Amino acid sequence: SSGSDGAKKYIIATDTTFAPFEFEDESGNRVGIDMDLLKAIAEDQGFEYELQPLGFDAAVTALESGQADGVIAGMSITEERQKKYDFSDPYFDSGVGMAVKSDNDTIKSYDDLKGKNVAVKNGTEGSKYAESIKDQYGFTITSFPESANMYEDVKSGNSVACFEDYPVLGYAIAKGQPLKLVGDLQAGNSYGFAVQKGKNAELLEMFNTGLKNMKDNGKYQEILDTYIKTN
Ligand code: GLN
Repeated sequence: SSGSDGAKKYIIATDTTFAPFEFEDESGNRVGIDMDLLKAIAEDQGFEYELQPLGFDAAVTALESGQADGVIAGMSITEERQKKYDFSDPYFDSGVGMAVKSDNDTIKSYDDLKGKNVAVKNGTEGSKYAESIKDQYGFTITSFPESANMYEDVKSGNSVACFEDYPVLGYAIAKGQPLKLVGDLQAGNSYGFAVQKGKNAELLEMFNTGLKNMKDNGKYQEILDTYIKTN
């Protein structure tokens, strides 16, 4: 589609709530590391975009079908996805963790999941990881479209645990979700901005150049510091 001056306006799909990467603040603005970074990069590189908060799985589907030009959604750069999408340079290191209810003292490791159910989110690395170990540890899986559904399932006791990126679980816990991280963190991967393979090379190039500029001028660090407090 076209922007106000007739320039191309890119459709960028994202997740609904995946704090601290994308979420709505009290005034209903879409904020977070991904949102602020995309905005800063677009300003720096002079491109326009329309944001579509579709949910993670739906955002990736929209990209795959060409309904979106790009996805920024805490999307992990994986070998499998690199066959289908072109990714920007990595902008954040992450990985999968397991969380249980904060008052749960029986689930301390994967061995304790035998005969239990766990919650995951459709199409994510957390889901893929849980699938890969469920037979070995003897648990079942329920999959949800959004992170919030997953947390609810754990809080209600339907699932004893959920698998999700640990920076996101850590943030949710810091903001008051009655959960805790247990067990080992899984070797992760990094987040990247994705476009369809062989398409939108110009957009990808602008993202990479803008990202580098934001790292060089301190804006990238400023955005991280806004959402992630380090001691
Ligand atoms: N990083 C995970 C993935 O790429 C989860 C992303 C998300 O839920 N927004 O699969």
